[in-house]
Amino acid sequence: MGNRKGSRPGSREKMIAKVASLCLPCGICGDAINYEIQDANHPEHYELDERIPYSKGGSTDTWENTQPVHRICNLLKGNKEDYYLDGLFDAYTKYKGKKYQSFKEEYLQEKAQNMQKKCNVTFTSSKIDI
Ligand SMILES: [Zn+2]
Repeated sequence: MGNRKGSRPGSREKMIAKVASLCLPCGICGDAINYEIQDANHPEHYELDERIPYSKGGSTDTWENTQPVHRICNLLKGNKEDYYLDGLFDAYTKYKGKKYQSFKEEYLQEKAQNMQKKCNVTFTSSKIDI
């Protein structure tokens, strides 16, 4: 990975690690981020986002302009500013019919299982059909 113009050598990588160490939730959708996910193409993989996009002059390595986000949320945000989603479910919903179909199904299954564990409610596919 090369350094972007305007950031000090290695500072972007350090920022990525520093922000990850805080285990903060996603700055776009507000849901927790699983920092253990290694697959960089997984829609819930951690990415460091610039609140004001680099293409619009935002810095890539300062606390003021960076936030941890999910990959899928970052993709939806694109180069917009102040873009928010109502949880990961909202993010997956906005990707309906797009390339994350299989991830969405895995996500929903996992969520449904977690919900069952937590409150003993059974989700049917129709209830969470997105
Ligand atoms: Zn997110």
